[in-house]
Amino acid sequence: AANIEIERIKYFQGKLLAWWKDHGRHFPWREEFLSDYELIIAEILLQRTKAETIANYYKIFLESYPSWQSLAAARESDLAFLLKPIGLYNQRAKRISALAKSMKQRGFIIPHDRTLLDEIPFMGQYIANAVELLIYNQAKPLLDVNMARVLERYFGPRQKADIRYDPYLQSLAHEILVDVNAKEINWAILDFAALICQSRTPKCLTCSLSINCKYYKNNKN
Ligand code: SF4
Repeated sequence: AANIEIERIKYFQGKLLAWWKDHGRHFPWREEFLSDYELIIAEILLQRTKAETIANYYKIFLESYPSWQSLAAARESDLAFLLKPIGLYNQRAKRISALAKSMKQRGFIIPHDRTLLDEIPFMGQYIANAVELLIYNQAKPLLDVNMARVLERYFGPRQKADIRYDPYLQSLAHEILVDVNAKEINWAILDFAALICQSRTPKCLTCSLSINCKYYKNNKN
């Protein structure tokens, strides 16, 4: 059974990366040579918001607050005003402000150690993983509801309600990073979730993963 699982993982990786080469999305935060600050801000803005919405807004935010220093000095109400166009602005302003102030206390240095990273307020598992993947080049999953949906449909459902504490999803999300470029496969899954394996109407008939997909097998007549 373990071998079958490895084969299904290999198939998943191969088909997804092949799809992504032709259909992957291009976003400013996926460019090379971004600062740590720019990478982290993008991930925070992307939480619970469509990437296309942030694509147009990202530059506006960075023009107003180009560094941790400028962000740490900002008033929360000014931040909230700037964040208005993308929604959840009070909540986001609070989080971003607390994060920036905490970074100031740390001399604006992002810790390498995961335990220290987790101590930063409002960092959360997803952002901490993003820091390790994008800044420290470790094989970490950008496991959010969208990635979870693709993994669960193809491989089978989770056991616990909360993604962050589901041992099955957590280990699966790490296994699919093995032997491939971790950044690319993460982005491939997120793009695939947005364009093909969509939440309400997955495009199973045009999906290159369908012959191995559990959801597809269980739902076709
Ligand atoms: Fe998603 Fe359908 Fe493809 Fe399965 S076959 S991965 S459910 S789009």
